[in-house]
Amino acid sequence: MARKKIIAGNWKMNMTPSQAVKLVETLKPLVVNDEVDVVFCVPAIDIIPVLEAAKGTNIQVGAENMYFEEKGAFTGEIAPAMLEEVGVKYVVLGHSERRQYFAETSETVNKKMLKAFEHGITPIMCCGESLEQREQGITMDWIRQQVKVGFQNVTADQAKTAVIAYEPIWAIGTGKTATTEQAQEVCAGIRQCIAEIYDEATAAEIRIQYGGSVNAKTAPDLFAQADIDGGLVGGASLKEEFGQIVNYK
Ligand code: PEP
Repeated sequence: MARKKIIAGNWKMNMTPSQAVKLVETLKPLVVNDEVDVVFCVPAIDIIPVLEAAKGTNIQVGAENMYFEEKGAFTGEIAPAMLEEVGVKYVVLGHSERRQYFAETSETVNKKMLKAFEHGITPIMCCGESLEQREQGITMDWIRQQVKVGFQNVTADQAKTAVIAYEPIWAIGTGKTATTEQAQEVCAGIRQCIAEIYDEATAAEIRIQYGGSVNAKTAPDLFAQADIDGGLVGGASLKEEFGQIVNYK
């Protein structure tokens, strides 16, 4: 069975609620493509207005983060049940910006992964190496570690439904896309790692995205690779260009 591509926008800390609704209105007609899953991962305050604005379209809505506890004294956090109740289907976990600025670790990512599955929310788990790690030749060791810890105690059935986003840190927001060969090589390595943790069937089903300065020009080659099942797109997801990325063929 061929894996369905998944192309997700990561809005990061952009768009007030009114701007968010306007952007959905603009992108709605441009992102129509039944062959791919289209997801807008948006700031927490934009989730409800974006869900409303996207009603009746092929746009699915995701969160950019959530906490791993059910509820309680965790000021400023968003609970998984809150996302579930309003109809959020995806959550980005372990984005490198959260690891860098908000002390996210693979261990906390793992706790969030388990909670997301409990609540029927599909995690988009991010992993990726720094430029220094790439230059040291430890890219795959590092990413294997992130994947192994992130998927601890995740069952094979759950893992099959998960999404992994390979995002080299040096390519995020820099305008420097990894070459198609670099992206394919690491995505194939991640699939191999999943096969080792679980089995070939799980590895064949899990979807692996590439992220890092994806644009309308680079998307077609990247998404044509055997192990790249779509993309996680930052900057270009806020522009009409996202429509071209979704319709990359
Ligand atoms: C991201 O935020 O996940 C990302 C890949 O950003 P950009 O496309 O802007 O590099």
